[in-house]
Amino acid sequence: MSISQLAKEIKESATLAQNEKARILRERGEAVIHLGAGEPKSKVPIDAILACSAKLTSGDIRYTPTEGIPTLIKAIIRYTEDNYDKVVGPENVIVSAGAKQAFYNLMMTILNPQDEVIILAPYWVSYPEIVKMLYGVPVVVKPEDGRFQPRMADIIQSVSSYTKVIVINSPNNPSGAVYSEDFIGEIVEYCEKKDIYLVMDDIYHKLVFNGKKAVSCYKYAKDDSDNSRLIVINGVSKAYAMTGFRIGWTIANRKVTRTMINVAAQNTSCPSVVLQAAAAGALGGIQSVVENLRLTLENNREVMVSELGAFSGVKLIPPDGTFYCLPDFSAYSKDSTALAAFLLEKALVVAVPGGEFGMEGHLRLSFCGSIKEITEGVARIKWALDPESPNEIYIGDRKLRRDWV
Ligand code: PMP
Repeated sequence: MSISQLAKEIKESATLAQNEKARILRERGEAVIHLGAGEPKSKVPIDAILACSAKLTSGDIRYTPTEGIPTLIKAIIRYTEDNYDKVVGPENVIVSAGAKQAFYNLMMTILNPQDEVIILAPYWVSYPEIVKMLYGVPVVVKPEDGRFQPRMADIIQSVSSYTKVIVINSPNNPSGAVYSEDFIGEIVEYCEKKDIYLVMDDIYHKLVFNGKKAVSCYKYAKDDSDNSRLIVINGVSKAYAMTGFRIGWTIANRKVTRTMINVAAQNTSCPSVVLQAAAAGALGGIQSVVENLRLTLENNREVMVSELGAFSGVKLIPPDGTFYCLPDFSAYSKDSTALAAFLLEKALVVAVPGGEFGMEGHLRLSFCGSIKEITEGVARIKWALDPESPNEIYIGDRKLRRDWV
């Protein structure tokens, strides 16, 4: 069977693959603990549900303008003003089917074949794959050992005449790192000076802990004109626990937005009007839902950090945001894919291999589940790997004995 060479080279999504394995095991009745999840468990905000129910019951479900329905665009403009202290107009906003599609359509809008996109490790798995899907070239910049924020000097070293874009994701999936304000300031200035697009994937910017704040990139931008190459991607998936609604957006200059609308018009026409209504409801509704989620995650983070802290072979840079952490398990295995497979087989714990995010020897563990899942999940990992830990454990109603370390 003939399949496109390019499509064949696209990697399976590591996180979705882990979800699938966990689903199959659970269906078999196995007591799987999922520390690989990428979505909060809290209920969708009531304002979102009411808004989309009202739309649905109207029976008037049609195409919308490609850029999105006016109420949602207005809500995004207000969100940008409230959270970034930045005034944008409707001509700067386009809604998409999730932040993922926003990134895809944006890359399609700005990349020529062979253009280079600088991606900072550890990175969200989809960036390099999406860039490759559009015949671009991902250029990965790694941080020094034991850090999660690459150095500006290393980024500058990786810039070439082909560099079109630098992508920043802070708070960062998978490390939970929040890049320093100095770093954000420097990179905004650098990209402006060099005419490089700077894409800020801010999907986790409200989920930060212990008094930290994700800085607004606009604070450092001098170019406020239609030539500004600073672009922000965001959405309702994480902060409003609305992953299933698939609504994200992009804030960009007028020309990029207009071209991106043409791209979106030819591939999806528009995201579903029902789901756009839900997102407008969430953004315009009671905002304490976001703070409640953040507080729950902050509490979960404490538990995860303390459980991992009591695990002597594991090194952890505590996360300042998101709902992930990326502990270093290289004392146990340098091959994170093999390690994740081993943990699923022996301990029925799902973890995502760090190698998928450009950080071998690490595992991404989520703390968006329950406290019980976190404590029991880490206990099982410890049992499977640490010869000092008790030799027997209960997994579900089975008592298991470790006979490999
Ligand atoms: N960016 C990052 C860094 C993410 O982690 C995710 C979701 N895992 C997305 C974008 C995509 O979010 P959405 O659900 O809005 O497509």
